[in-house]
Parts: sequence; structure tokens; C-alpha cells
Amino acid sequence: MPTTDSITRKIQGAASTEVCSDELRWDPWAYDAPRHGSRLPVYGAGASQWDTIPRSAPVQREIPERYRAMAPEEVAARIGAVKARLGFRLVILGHHYQRDEIIRWADFRGDSFKLSQQAAGRREADYIVFCGVHFMAESADILAADHQRVILPNTAAGCSMADMADEAQVLACWRQLDEILGRGEDRAAVVPVTYMNSSAALKAFCGERGGIVCTSSNATRVLEWSFARGERVLFFPDEHLGRNTGDKLGVPDDAMVVWDPRRPLGGNSVEALRGARLILWRGWCSVHARFTVAQIAEARRRYPEINVVVHPECRREVVAAADLDGSTELILETIASAPPGSQWAVGTEINMVNRLAAAHPDKLIFCLDPVICPCSTMYRIHPAYLAWVLEALVGGEVVNEIVVTDAVKVSARVALDRMLALPGRPAPAAARR
Ligand code: SF4
Repeated sequence: MPTTDSITRKIQGAASTEVCSDELRWDPWAYDAPRHGSRLPVYGAGASQWDTIPRSAPVQREIPERYRAMAPEEVAARIGAVKARLGFRLVILGHHYQRDEIIRWADFRGDSFKLSQQAAGRREADYIVFCGVHFMAESADILAADHQRVILPNTAAGCSMADMADEAQVLACWRQLDEILGRGEDRAAVVPVTYMNSSAALKAFCGERGGIVCTSSNATRVLEWSFARGERVLFFPDEHLGRNTGDKLGVPDDAMVVWDPRRPLGGNSVEALRGARLILWRGWCSVHARFTVAQIAEARRRYPEINVVVHPECRREVVAAADLDGSTELILETIASAPPGSQWAVGTEINMVNRLAAAHPDKLIFCLDPVICPCSTMYRIHPAYLAWVLEALVGGEVVNEIVVTDAVKVSARVALDRMLALPGRPAPAAARR
């Protein structure tokens, strides 16, 4: 584990101007309790803080008082004790965007799909504790064996981007497209493609309608597969990943339209939808939306030798201004294999960038965003929640289990299996300009 200060400790010692919200210094259970007389869920402090959370989002049950009051050392000792006691019966997964104080306990680190696959390979584990967000735990449950129980330490850890497309909205969109465009004859009129960052219900939606799932590593190959089968693609929930991938495939600008679920026909004319090749859902990641062309220009001004690498969830102009874009795994591998002395400005979540910098002291590595602003929902996974759910397991209780119904699992597997069956070597996850 790198030895530099974790983001959690940096936040505690930072001035107000150095963080995106003073609420980052609150304990996450401040959001579990009724706020302002309401039990409406909120994302919590950080990049998604001001996004609108759907009423259907889970509300976290209050963590017992004894865990809230525990010193960090005791929390750590208790997690370590349960890990040792449960041994191979337990596997803990840590997404790259988790805080250091969680990542230290992870048996596997990775992006969402890689982690789910790794968990699925550990059939001897009875419990899969996913330190990530809700859709990731759902994906783990889809891929897990029947006897495996998947646990999300804090059920309020959703994903603001995934929450921007719910099943009812997508069904309403599909019905409208169906009316205007029909079903198609030799080829489908529209092929639905969902990003991994979506609910299990939407993966099932795609599975049932000839559609497919993509990740940020394989979006190009997935769109090629989809265009071979249909006239158009409906891509959700991330507008930016869809547009950046469309750009890589040469889809003309005027053939990409945005579907805003709050407006009739998504805010489009019938003619625009008929002429579209890529219909992009109006959704975004509030972490990656923070990166700007001005930040890249400032990094280049300060460090003329800098390499700029960003995630494809960033806006098109940011991706265009960077040297390289790709998935979290691509960013990690690229920087790890870069020569000593190289310089990297990185456009992705700050906990991962901070760990990268600590792991490679021979390189200059920093986050493009000068303000500390972690993913709100990833940040909801605090060690006290991990200690709570683990100690409950020892006591015979499964707290915060994530269960996908069998019917949804079957259809979601269809869409995932189409992705896994794509021919050829994994496509390069990045484009170097
Ligand atoms: S970083 Fe963005 S896409 Fe990832 S969990 Fe957070 S809000 Fe969702």
C-alpha cells in the first residue's frame, strides 16, 4: 500500500478552497439519518452531490451507533479479524475509486467488470463483499454461483450516472422509437446498448431486445457489432462515452442525437431521429464531467512535457484535447509501464490518481482537477460499514445483500454473453493522438 496521505486524510486537513464541498469532512452516516425532516435518499458529498437522485434509489439503514463511535484502529482490527476468521469463505472486491482505507482490505482491485469476473472465479467463497457501487454488486450477483451472497457495505452507494436512466424511462423511449422507426426488416431499426454502469434491469432490457452491454474498454467493438445488426444504436446511460466512441468510428456529428428523457421524443424531431445513427441518452458521470480543456491547457503550460490521459466518460472536447483516453485499467497500465521521469496529468477519480502517484514516485502524476472531489457514492463506503457487514456475517446475519431476480439475471446474462463472445483480441482501450 502506498504510504502518502490518503484522500480521506487530505480532505480532513484541506482548506475549504481545496475541496469541492465542506461536507466531505462529514461521516457518511450523516446521510443515512433523516435530513431536513425527510428520508429521501441523497448521494452525499463529492462530485454527484448536486445531481438529482431518483426516489427509487435505496436508502441506507442506519449503521449501529457502536460502529459510528469506533476509533479507526479498532475498525481496522475488527475487519482484519473477520477476514482471518472467514478465510476463503469471504472475498472482498475493491473498485479503483475506493478510498485507501477500504482498498487495503481488497482481495482483488479492478474496474467493475473485471472484479465481477474475479469474484465469479472464486466459487469457494460464500460471501462476496463488493466495495463499489450498486450496479457493480448487481453485476457480481448476475455472475455469481447460486450459493454466493453478494453484499454492498452501504446500499446508498449508487451511481449517479446509472441512476440517470431508469427502466421506466428507457421503456418509454423505446416505445416512442418503435412508433416512429418501426422494428426494421433485415436489420433492426434500433439496437439497444447499455454501458456496464447501469442497473441489472437495463442489462436485461438489452438482452431481451437483441442488445448488448459494453465497458469503457470495448465500447468501439460493441458499437461495431451493433451497427452490423441495426440501422441505429440507442446508447445509455452515458452520453459522453457514446459520443466519444461514435467519433472513433467516424459517425458524423449530425447523425448523433441526444435523448433527454424529460422531453417528448427526447427533445428531437421525427426527422432527426430517422436520420440518426447514434441516439445518446442524456446522462453523465459527475466525476468525469469536472475535467475541462482549461485544466489541460494549464497542465501543459506548467509542464511542457506532460502526457494527458483521460477517461472516455469525459466530454468530447476534453478527450480531444488529451493525448490519450481509455479505461481505468488502460490508464493504470499505461502509467505503470511509462519510463521513469515521465509526467502524467490524469482525468479520472482522485483516489485512484492519488494511489498511482504514491505507487510511482519516480514519475510526476497528478489529477487534472486541482480541487479534491471524489465520487460521492464510492465515498459512501467507509471502513465502519465494512466492519459492520463483516461482523454481521460472523453472527450469521447477511446485512445489505444485493439480490437480482432470476428472470432479470437470465436476460442480463444474454446481453453480457453477447459482449463476452465478441470475436478477436480485446480492442485497444485507448486512442493516442
Ligand atoms: S465515478 Fe461516475 S460512473 Fe463511476 S460510480 Fe462514480 S458517478 Fe458512477
